Amino acid sequence: MYVAELEFKIIADTNFAQAESAIRHYIEKLIFNGQILGREFPTAWQQDRFCSRIVIPDEHALLAKYHSKLGNTALQQLGNAGLAYPQLHVLGMDLMSPHTDPCAKAKSYILYTRFSDTCSPLRCGEHFAPTALYQLKTSEPDHEQLIRWQLQYQALDEIQMQHTRVLDKTAERSLQQLHSTLNKQGRKLAKQLELTNGIPVFYALYSGTSTNCSAEADKTCPGCGESWRLVKPMHDIFDFKCDSCRLLSNIAWDCQSSS
Ligand SMILES: [Zn+2]
Ligand SMILES: [Zn+2]
Repeated sequence: MYVAELEFKIIADTNFAQAESAIRHYIEKLIFNGQILGREFPTAWQQDRFCSRIVIPDEHALLAKYHSKLGNTALQQLGNAGLAYPQLHVLGMDLMSPHTDPCAKAKSYILYTRFSDTCSPLRCGEHFAPTALYQLKTSEPDHEQLIRWQLQYQALDEIQMQHTRVLDKTAERSLQQLHSTLNKQGRKLAKQLELTNGIPVFYALYSGTSTNCSAEADKTCPGCGESWRLVKPMHDIFDFKCDSCRLLSNIAWDCQSSS
């Protein structure tokens, strides 16, 4: 990932509210297409320009050829708000986020995210490195549904990681149960990506606690009930994989630490 600045020169009469709204709209469209990562973009007003600090998955991520239709429309609307086409200044590699996957076309993908991630929720099945979403086809106008799913997933994960949880077990159940609304939504999005791109997309099912740690290593796939234990863990995280249900999971973290 790279840290960059996006500069919007003021070229015609504008006011603060109009400029702010056009910049916000444009950057949000790029976030929903996976061209900009994270959700915050601090923006400074510097006399004759506005400057936004952003994180991008690749130095070329903001090329107009990668924009969705919505992104292109938002780009044109900057002019109506008295702003020039933005100029990108790449400041350097982001030390706080992982590198984007090198594969031009991965053989499989994993839908996986955690509360602290500042990267795409889609990872290469082979390298487990994040794949920039704008590189993938979608049957929707952009990847907004997937990004919104990721935001909710991360919010619930954040809650269940805290020692003094405000939602007790509710957040963990959302992450852990195959048929929770969160996981149903995530699996549906994974399936859509698989169908549109013709590449298998696995869903990473989180496992934090278990009521029976002694049986945890032999648990069966929650989708089909078949045995799904891997001989060797995959990416040091996943102990279970079901090809037909497109599911990956781990021995519950609590059981791992007690063994
Ligand atoms: Zn890869
Ligand atoms: Zn299965």
